[in-house]
Order: sequence, then structure tokens, then C-alpha cells
Amino acid sequence: MTIFSRIVAGEIPSYKVAEDENYYAFLDINPVAKGHTLVIPKREVNYLFELDEDEYLGLWAFARKVAKALEAAVPCKRIGVAVLGMEVPHCHIHLVPLNTEGDLNFAKQKLTLPAEEMQAIAAAIAAKM
Ligand code: 5GP
Repeated sequence: MTIFSRIVAGEIPSYKVAEDENYYAFLDINPVAKGHTLVIPKREVNYLFELDEDEYLGLWAFARKVAKALEAAVPCKRIGVAVLGMEVPHCHIHLVPLNTEGDLNFAKQKLTLPAEEMQAIAAAIAAKM
């Protein structure tokens, strides 16, 4: 079971932003920018391009809803999108509020925000869903 499956199952806490029957969105624990959100299929599949067609398209449709809510909740120029999967073998789309090109640099020092701030950001995005 991946760490993300354990989050979906509620075994590990997360700052949940949104969920439906098949997909789940939550804040990245070490964001590259405030509001950095991960969008995943609940079903455990390692690689994005291994998803079957319906689930793949559904994931992107769900990610777009989350991105619009994120953009409404966190002031930024636009929402950047990345798919890496170098760390967690459970496919996920990174949604990152961008103000500069450098905000999407995953090699730089990540942020560690206080729990109250993470909670407040997640609640603000969820309220825009
Ligand atoms: P990737 O697999 O796309 O290279 O990176 C995985 C991402 O998941 C990283 O940005 C990392 O901060 C995030 N991450 C790893 N473990 C956890 C976790 O337990 N909870 C949350 N919310 N994010 C995690």
C-alpha cells in the first residue's frame, strides 16, 4: 500500500482539499509554493500513463476543478502543473500556484508551513470547490 493510499484510507492524516468517489486532492506536505496541491486517483496506480482512458481523463477533469478552486483561494498569476513521481509510486498531479517561473522548481528548498497555516489554506481551497 502506498503512503497516498494510506492517506485516502484515513490511516495517515492529510490536509484534504477535495474528494469524490474516484479522486482525492490534498496539500503537499513539503510545498514548493503555498497552496501546492496533489491530485490522485484513489486506485493505486504507479504511473500516470498506465491509467486506463476513463480514469486518466477523469483525473484531469477533477484536477481542473481543483485548480480553479486553488486559483480562487491562493493569489497567483496562474496554476502550474507538473507530474514527477520520483518519490511516491502512486500517480499524482502537482498543482502549484505560480508567481514566477522559479516557483515550479522542485530541486529548490521546499517550504515547511505551520499546521495551522496548512489547515487554513486547505479550508480556503475547499471552500471554493
Ligand atoms: P514525486 O513523487 O512527485 O517526485 O514527489 C512526491 C511529493 O509528495 C513530494 O512533493 C512530497 O513532498 C509529497 N509527499 C510525500 N509524502 C507525503 C505525505 O505523506 N503527505 C503529503 N501530503 N505529501 C507527501
